[in-house]
Amino acid sequence: MRDVVVIGGGQAGLAAGFHLTRAGADFEILDASDGPGGAWPHTWPSLRLFSPADHSSLPGRRMHRTDDGNPDAAHVVEYLRGYEEYYGLPVRRGVRIVAVERDDPDGFVVRAADGRRWRARAVISATGTWSRPFVPTCPGVGGFRGHQIHSAGYRGPEPFGGRRVVVVGGANSGAQIAADLAGHLQQSDGELIWCTAGPPRYLPDHVDGRELFRVATASVRSGSGRGVAELGDIVVVPPVRAARDAGLLVATPMFDRFHPGGVEWDDGRREAVDAVIWCTGFRPALGHLRGLGLSRVGGRVVADGPVVPDVPGLFLLGYGDWCGAASATLIGVGQWAKAAVAAALGR
Ligand code: FAD
Repeated sequence: MRDVVVIGGGQAGLAAGFHLTRAGADFEILDASDGPGGAWPHTWPSLRLFSPADHSSLPGRRMHRTDDGNPDAAHVVEYLRGYEEYYGLPVRRGVRIVAVERDDPDGFVVRAADGRRWRARAVISATGTWSRPFVPTCPGVGGFRGHQIHSAGYRGPEPFGGRRVVVVGGANSGAQIAADLAGHLQQSDGELIWCTAGPPRYLPDHVDGRELFRVATASVRSGSGRGVAELGDIVVVPPVRAARDAGLLVATPMFDRFHPGGVEWDDGRREAVDAVIWCTGFRPALGHLRGLGLSRVGGRVVADGPVVPDVPGLFLLGYGDWCGAASATLIGVGQWAKAAVAAALGR
């Protein structure tokens, strides 16, 4: 019987590991991936952090600065690898947890896909969202002959040379991928069609992850609930700024349906399209908790920060603002990890 089992060894799981180590807890981190870094090894190579390295650190250990602006995903993977090693965190890899069950009178049984089991007094779930890409339904999609991927599968512009490509989504991944593709398509006689639900809401150019974190922190302290969403959706990282200022990021309303060779709008506009890239977000990867009967409101698990009032001893960490403001960021997850660990250990 461990004090705590942490499910997921990305940035959130490691932040929990840091505080558990400090508290002298008996714990283990179980991670489905074969290597360190959580979602970061799977993002597209040109992805840049919203903030410089000194504003992208987990508790205890600073991320090294980079000479060429905000760090890329590879830099984050190396940082997380080093973090794990430095603190000697007990991460067990290649373990996919499929179920968490109550183990009366007070504790849990955590079951892996290969049949292994762990028992713990508390469980911190930190499985992220990357494994649950969300794609909305759209009329006619079944008959579309072109290629479709989600942003989770995007690896760079090269395969799209000379193609007519629709990018769907007006938030950060949509803007960053549209910016990544725009120049490449222009040079290769392809075409970018960037579809967004409304006009893109760029944050002011000077606002980066530092400012977003400041606003999120102030919102928590004041209890105002005024989050970063009021400021805008898109952080104007340098590649987005360059593409926007060059006039390459022109948004058009979302199409209404597919036809076999492309997409069309209710006003009669029709476009031939080779590929669609869905930048339509992710959902929390919580399938392993389904047996616990968690209450949901509006499709979302009821949580008070990382605490799940329904299930004493269970904590949700890093999934987004709904379980802790800025908890889905490197700089923001530490405070929620600390709170989850204190509650898990009853301190
Ligand atoms: P993940 O990194 O997804 O790690 C979860 C881990 O849990 C993975 O290793 C996974 O294998 C494992 N796992 C999943 N299911 C199971 C299971 N059933 N059993 C066992 N293990 C499991 N964040 C920032 O801080 N700064 C930024 O600038 C930034 N920019 C971003 C830009 C874009 C375009 C996007 C899409 C995201 C950005 N993010 C940024 C957010 C960041 O990528 C994620 O929020 C972050 O990776 C979440 O960390 P996590 O530890 O919660 O989850």
